[in-house]
Amino acid sequence: MHNSHAKAFAPSQDRKDGKINLIGLSRDEIGNLFAERGLQAFRVKQVWQWIYGRGATDFDAMTNLAKAVRAQLADEFVIERPRVKQAQNSVDGTAKWLLQFDDDQEVETVHIPEADRGTLCVSSQVGCTLTCKFCMTGTQKLVRNLSAGEVVGQIMLARDAFGEWPTPTDGSRQLTNIVLMGMGEPLYNYENVAKAMRIVMDPDGLAFSKRRITLSTSGVVPELRRCGTELNVNLAISLHAVNDEIRSEIMPINKKYPLKELLGACRDYPGVSNARRITFEYVMLKGVNDSLADARELVRILRGIPAKINLIPFNPWPNSPYECSAPMTITKFQDVLARAGLSAPVRTTRGEDISAACGQLKSESVRQRKPRPHDHLRAQVAAVG
Ligand code: SAH
Ligand code: SF4
Repeated sequence: MHNSHAKAFAPSQDRKDGKINLIGLSRDEIGNLFAERGLQAFRVKQVWQWIYGRGATDFDAMTNLAKAVRAQLADEFVIERPRVKQAQNSVDGTAKWLLQFDDDQEVETVHIPEADRGTLCVSSQVGCTLTCKFCMTGTQKLVRNLSAGEVVGQIMLARDAFGEWPTPTDGSRQLTNIVLMGMGEPLYNYENVAKAMRIVMDPDGLAFSKRRITLSTSGVVPELRRCGTELNVNLAISLHAVNDEIRSEIMPINKKYPLKELLGACRDYPGVSNARRITFEYVMLKGVNDSLADARELVRILRGIPAKINLIPFNPWPNSPYECSAPMTITKFQDVLARAGLSAPVRTTRGEDISAACGQLKSESVRQRKPRPHDHLRAQVAAVG
């Protein structure tokens, strides 16, 4: 039912020249396309390895394919990434790409380097149909799902930027983890996101382990359960409140899937253990969800779920209806959790300098439509790990 309010179309892959982009197609789909064209089945694996193992963007590079086959492929197919409209680098090493698709819609992808990992924060939709009150993406009118290719493409172009073809094995890798935490609600675009993650996890290609992928959701319970059985990637839940009254007020989706159902789905999530915990994101909103009683209640409702909590300082945006809790309030909140044995780091922001610039950039490029800077990216990308 929720799909009715997402304008749940993704653009077709039709190009003006009639060629088909192979990025984002499943192995089966490529197999069918090849079969229709009289290409032998083993070509699929060869081409797949070139695309996702070696980062080839050109059929001519595929030297183990006969020249005639390469020419035939080049006639009918392309291997294309999203267009980068702007790339920015922060003094702290954070990188951000503003991508523009053929219909001029834009999303952002962010890379956060840390000592022991490099995390790519990937978008799943242009905008978001949910209207969480603290989130600026929710104020954006224009929404569409990204296609599987547009999701995979974000990872491909980051790998291009780092020159990580094939995957470096000497520990120098800059892109080790993926978080579905950019713009959009990934579980409102489940089919495309799932298809994209299957491509990203394919052992013949990018070969990301499900343990290095985290999906962040506001709590779409039916798809959360599907995600558990079908993909079983790590989970981050945007919890943000400890009772239905406040959660429904700040996150309208809670009216449809209240806390009890959400936490039930978390309890049932396959493979969760003390070694593989669910991350609960908790944005600190002054006077709304930050009392010591809230902290104690948080401990209580998470009992029995292997959990870690990320306390995220609220990142204000123009005319946002909330303020961030005072640092002392956050510390006291954290103390209550710590005394109950719950680790709850406060996430520091990264890439602040370019995020500010990005806010301006985005409002500039969409001024004719609707302002939609995505400031909270800087808080959220560091929020899981
Ligand atoms: N739709 C998904 C993923 C994208 S939002 C979700 O809601 O989980 C990623 C994270 O950023 C979420 O935890 C979200 O609650 C948080 N967030 C949104 N706006 C924020 C803001 N202004 N300050 C801090 N965090 C924010
Ligand atoms: Fe959408 Fe997530 Fe923002 Fe809520 S917090 S409006 S679900 S992107």
